[in-house]
Amino acid sequence: MQQDNPYKNALQQLHTAADLLKLDKSMLDILSHPKQEITVTFPVRMDNGEIKVFTGYRIQHNNARGPTKGGLRFHPEVHIDEVRALSIWMTWKCAVVNIPYGGAKGGVVVDTKKLSEKELENLSRAFTQAIHTFIGPQIDIPAPDIATNPKIMAWMVDEYSKIQGKFTPAVITGKPLDIGGSEGREFSTSWGGVFVLKEAIAKLGLLNPTIAVQGFGNVGSFAAKFLYEEGYKVVAVSDSGGGIYNPEGLNIHTIFEVKKKTGSVTNYPNGKKVTNEELLELPVEIIVPAALENQLTERNAHNIKARMILELANGPTTPEADGVLEKKNILIVPDILANAGGVSVSYYEWLQNLKNEHWTEQKVLQRLEKLMKKAFDDVYKVKQEYNTTMRTAALVLAVKRVVEDIKKKNF
Ligand code: NAD
Repeated sequence: MQQDNPYKNALQQLHTAADLLKLDKSMLDILSHPKQEITVTFPVRMDNGEIKVFTGYRIQHNNARGPTKGGLRFHPEVHIDEVRALSIWMTWKCAVVNIPYGGAKGGVVVDTKKLSEKELENLSRAFTQAIHTFIGPQIDIPAPDIATNPKIMAWMVDEYSKIQGKFTPAVITGKPLDIGGSEGREFSTSWGGVFVLKEAIAKLGLLNPTIAVQGFGNVGSFAAKFLYEEGYKVVAVSDSGGGIYNPEGLNIHTIFEVKKKTGSVTNYPNGKKVTNEELLELPVEIIVPAALENQLTERNAHNIKARMILELANGPTTPEADGVLEKKNILIVPDILANAGGVSVSYYEWLQNLKNEHWTEQKVLQRLEKLMKKAFDDVYKVKQEYNTTMRTAALVLAVKRVVEDIKKKNF
């Protein structure tokens, strides 16, 4: 296994929760292995007429609580162990917020920056054909993740619907509004994160905290924007080109314009350039990793100065870093809680599709706020009960719920 292997990390976390819950070995075995792992290779026609073969994955970890659910990532570094880990985290995430889904994840090994629009469409449709027998509204429901978006989801729904011979919007969430997408889905992960962050800030009694956000994609950019609009001081943001820092605070609206015009947040004029590594070590109260996995490791954990970490990315902290950060008494709001707003609104989208309804953004956000606050409270209670970290508490809560459902269904 590669170093900082996310699957290894996910299993290590599961073992920690299993020990506390005194799970028997057979249950631990069931939970350690994804139920179904699909690897597909599929040909795609390029604009020059050439055919290229791509590799894709869909991994369904556990469906005891309902159909499996999770995003699709199009990235050159997609690796089967990463997808496995992400599918396991999806099972826990859905259980933490108590929605009736199991966990899955998928991905295609591809650099979308090197594809034309037509090639991206051909690839999305070909991948749908390759996995269509394994997905469905009551089986497994994909959604967007890194480098995938509503437009790609629309192509996939269209392709799936053609194969089924009927329009089937509930097979995929994160769709554009006009084909059954939900109001608020685009911002839901970020909103969910902000709702739990407010709870955590209140618990720690932080006054006017300074915040650094790593990653300015779908999740990081809107989290920075909402925090800024709610009056919080966002002092640093970054994208793959690096970051920008101003201890007096950044104007996030201007950064949106700069990013749109120039392609990178680093061209914002009123700040100092920092690397993605430096951003995490800034003297701020809160850091928000919202980019890739394994950003906080044993190499940099000792240098973290923040008092709280809101994990909007999946798996940004390695277990070794977790240990170091725990000793430093840094509160980590773990990914399976912090970024569960996305899958929660995906659940609302699926419900709307099944019932042929369309909810207002206000209704979606009200339900989301209630759900995220309840999840934070549930996790916090377990944290106190077991005298443990928020991560372990969230895992314990999730594993317990999944185990109860596995037992109920006798598998
Ligand atoms: P995205 O592709 O929209 O954005 C990713 C961001 O990370 C971009 O700003 C990119 O420039 C930046 N980035 C890429 N490589 C980097 C590097 N080496 N260092 C620093 N930054 C880098 O993806 P997203 O949808 O915003 O997802 C971000 C994270 O949030 C992922 O871990 C994803 O799994 C997680 N997540 C997303 C959702 C969702 O609804 N989109 C839900 C839950 C969790």
